[in-house]
Amino acid sequence: MSTATVITTAAFSHPGYVGGRATDVPISEVHAKKTGTITTLCGQSALTWFKFWEVPFATVLGNRCPRCVAAFDELLQAEADRRRRSFHPARKGRPAGGSSRAPGRPTTLS
Ligand SMILES: [Zn+2]
Repeated sequence: MSTATVITTAAFSHPGYVGGRATDVPISEVHAKKTGTITTLCGQSALTWFKFWEVPFATVLGNRCPRCVAAFDELLQAEADRRRRSFHPARKGRPAGGSSRAPGRPTTLS
């Protein structure tokens, strides 16, 4: 799951502007919802609510549902953790078949 699949939703909308372009913007409490589901991150049914594809939830300034914000922050955190792990994969010990000895050094001391 990724925050890229989270959209902004609200029960009421109003014509407004996003980035200088005319589009509908939410005017009631703003929730976040994963695409492909009918419920918000806080568990409410958003079946009949407006979807604001051009308004990323993270950019909504006011009147965001606190429970959706908390759930969204958890998603962000999980995504950041996943990204960190893929940059620094967990070490799985030495590669199979590899030597644990440094090359060019004597193997026995006598
Ligand atoms: Zn909510």
